[in-house]
Amino acid sequence: MTRPKTEEEIELLRINGELVSKTLAEVGKHVAPGVTTKTLDRVAETFIRDHGAVPNFLGYDGFPASICASVNDVVVHGFPSDYVLKEGDIVSIDLGTIYKGYNGDSAYTFPVGEVSAETRKLLDVTKESLYRGIAAAVAGGRVGDIGHAVQSYAESFGFGVVRELEGHGIGRDMHEDPGVPNYGRQGHGSRLVDGMTICIEPMITAGTRGVYLAKNGWAVHTADHRNAAHYELTVVVRHGQAEQLSTFDYIEKDPSIHF
Ligand code: MG
Ligand code: MG
Repeated sequence: MTRPKTEEEIELLRINGELVSKTLAEVGKHVAPGVTTKTLDRVAETFIRDHGAVPNFLGYDGFPASICASVNDVVVHGFPSDYVLKEGDIVSIDLGTIYKGYNGDSAYTFPVGEVSAETRKLLDVTKESLYRGIAAAVAGGRVGDIGHAVQSYAESFGFGVVRELEGHGIGRDMHEDPGVPNYGRQGHGSRLVDGMTICIEPMITAGTRGVYLAKNGWAVHTADHRNAAHYELTVVVRHGQAEQLSTFDYIEKDPSIHF
């Protein structure tokens, strides 16, 4: 198990969390019909480097870009490409930074123009399931409490919870122990203690929860090709409660961003 972080380490993770949050908003300003996901990748990489940080996704296990851009039935790990976003699509943007040796990592699913009522519901429920998971991340609790909170909420709407991928600890490495599944049983799994820094990231599907890996070895698609949403925030368990180190406020308080 990764050791709890010091206040100094938490501060560096908070700086990364802030930059990741602002980068997601910068990308969000550019999400629109007619834009390619490669363009969004350039926007993110430029913004991150202009702020003195490095995109930690670039080159990670050979990943070829600074963001994951996962459109519609792609759950996560989509490569930015020449695909042109169109009205009614959704695009999940996952990105991270490394600054002064520590990492940031967060994700947001943007609607492209107007989306169907069913897709709107998927986005709203996925984001709310994340907040419910965060509320369950209290000192003395267990990782299974987080998964249970996410799963019980998402499944109550008939949506699927992807089990093949999960959240994680974060620090000097982007992915540290413990794993943070989006399903689970209350009172089970690793114990949550003050100073733990974790990324909670529900991946929720409109239909069945099954997924498959694309031939490129990266993109994870829904088995039934229905839409999937993905939201991720970094939190620290501090003074017994979960405190966010990243935020969607820069997206949702900017009137120029459609979310
Ligand atoms: Mg991420
Ligand atoms: Mg993550």
